[in-house]
Amino acid sequence: MPSTPRSPTAGSPSPSSPPPSTPIPGSNATERDPTMILTDAQRSTLLELIDLTARSRALRHEHDHPADAPKLQELIGRHKALGEEKSSVAEVIAGLETENAELSAAIEKQNAQIAKKTAELNDGTGLTSRDLVHLQEEIAAHEGKVAELEETELESMERLETAQTELAGVEASISEVTAEGKTVQTGIKDRKAALAGELDELGSQESQLKADLPPDLVRRFEGNVAQGGPGAAVLTGPNCQACGQEISGMTWHAWLAEDVNEVHACEECEAVLLRRS
Ligand SMILES: [Zn+2]
Repeated sequence: MPSTPRSPTAGSPSPSSPPPSTPIPGSNATERDPTMILTDAQRSTLLELIDLTARSRALRHEHDHPADAPKLQELIGRHKALGEEKSSVAEVIAGLETENAELSAAIEKQNAQIAKKTAELNDGTGLTSRDLVHLQEEIAAHEGKVAELEETELESMERLETAQTELAGVEASISEVTAEGKTVQTGIKDRKAALAGELDELGSQESQLKADLPPDLVRRFEGNVAQGGPGAAVLTGPNCQACGQEISGMTWHAWLAEDVNEVHACEECEAVLLRRS
């Protein structure tokens, strides 16, 4: 961010060691440097405008990059992952339900055979003793099969129950994440609306201040803001406080001799430059 004071040219001469040149009061450093002298009221207005513009920039940044945006993204990601988990658990449940239905049908089939053969056995009409023994063996085999199937069915039902509990848990998590997501989303929306309102308010205050300043200065100020700069900067030394560009010793000393309300333009970033009073 070019708005923070910095001095990239660390070895630059400090204002306390001036070169042996005699500054000419009121002289322009270059032809490209349109100077003008502000009134004290205009100076105050410009300082206020710098302040408002910085505040606008910070609010604009917050508006465009909501603090909770990463949190919302994280919740959206979690919601998606939970949705996938829900699908896979639901698939497991469907498989187990099919398995259980098949086991129940198989048990029913065995029981039907047991009932049929028990009836034949009880009837006994035209059966030899060997037939009877054979029938009894068959019934016992069916009963053994039923016991085996029932054991498998029980295990399958237990797995189904576990999967259903898991599904309920996943669904509860989805509800929680959805609710939290809505809260965060609403929070972001409300904050953005509030910031937009504040930005509008600051914008109209800025317009009022600009109306009290020379149009040429306002044009340069806005040009620098459009480039991402602060518009104007108060100089604390021979460097542009907007972009860091070093101001030559000669120019700086010429400026030092001028009226404190004389403004210049940075040769590098065209920011309006005002000396500290
Ligand atoms: Zn500059």
